[in-house]
Amino acid sequence: MNLLNPNDSLAFNLSLNSPFNFICFKCGACCYHRHIELNNFEISQLARSFHLSRFELRQRFLNPGPRPWIKNKSDGSCFFLRPSGCSIYPVRPLVCRLYPLGLLFGPKGEERWGLLPLHPDCLGLITDDKTIEDYLFSQEAMPYLQFERRLRKIKGFSSRRPKTSW
Ligand code: SF4
Ligand code: SF4
Repeated sequence: MNLLNPNDSLAFNLSLNSPFNFICFKCGACCYHRHIELNNFEISQLARSFHLSRFELRQRFLNPGPRPWIKNKSDGSCFFLRPSGCSIYPVRPLVCRLYPLGLLFGPKGEERWGLLPLHPDCLGLITDDKTIEDYLFSQEAMPYLQFERRLRKIKGFSSRRPKTSW
């Protein structure tokens, strides 16, 4: 398995057909000190899984704002991180499904994919034995990505990646 060129990091010069795969060891190190904003689709998915209304979900688990974000615990960990890992894994938001991929939208909606810097303690392995598109399917990210695409189309495309940083 060949690692991708580290110089590609943050270049955002990748496409859906670019070679990429990522093996995550679910250590949880990247689930600390995050600012994970949720769109309406992500909120609805979470609310349904907890049998809560969207209002109740916001009250219990999210910080307020135009684009609310997941609360962190006092140690900085994501509210949904448990010793066994992500407690909302089947309904985790898009950024958690993409990581360590990032996505920029151009002015006409063109997509540019890139590699985000790995968390310093990340044990994950980036390989090139599949494609970015394969990876998105493996993470069941497509419905989440389609919603984000529609949202950007309605609100106007801007060159910012979906919300993630360390
Ligand atoms: S939602 Fe899950 S995967 Fe995402 S930061 Fe929280 S615990 Fe980690
Ligand atoms: S830090 Fe890396 S190996 Fe650990 S959960 Fe996050 S992506 Fe996976």
